[in-house]
Amino acid sequence: MYVVVSCPRCGELILANTSNKTRSCTNCGYRLDIRNQKPLAKAETPADAVEVMKKLKAMKAGGEEWKPNFNRLK
Ligand SMILES: [Zn+2]
Repeated sequence: MYVVVSCPRCGELILANTSNKTRSCTNCGYRLDIRNQKPLAKAETPADAVEVMKKLKAMKAGGEEWKPNFNRLK
C-alpha cells in the first residue's frame, strides 16, 4: 500500500510505501514516521500512487484546499 502524506515541517506532499517505517521529505529532508501521519490519500499500486500524487499536486498548485476525502480521487 502507498500513502500520500504531508510533511509536518514544510507541507510538501510525500509519497510513501507503508512497508517502510520512515520517509525523508524530498523538499526539506525532514524524516517523518509514516505511521504517525494521517494519509491524505491511499493507493494500492505504484501507478495509482503516481496518479494520486499528480491530482494532489494539481490541486495544491491551483490553490484548492485539500481535505482528506478518498472518494474524491475516484
Ligand atoms: Zn518537508
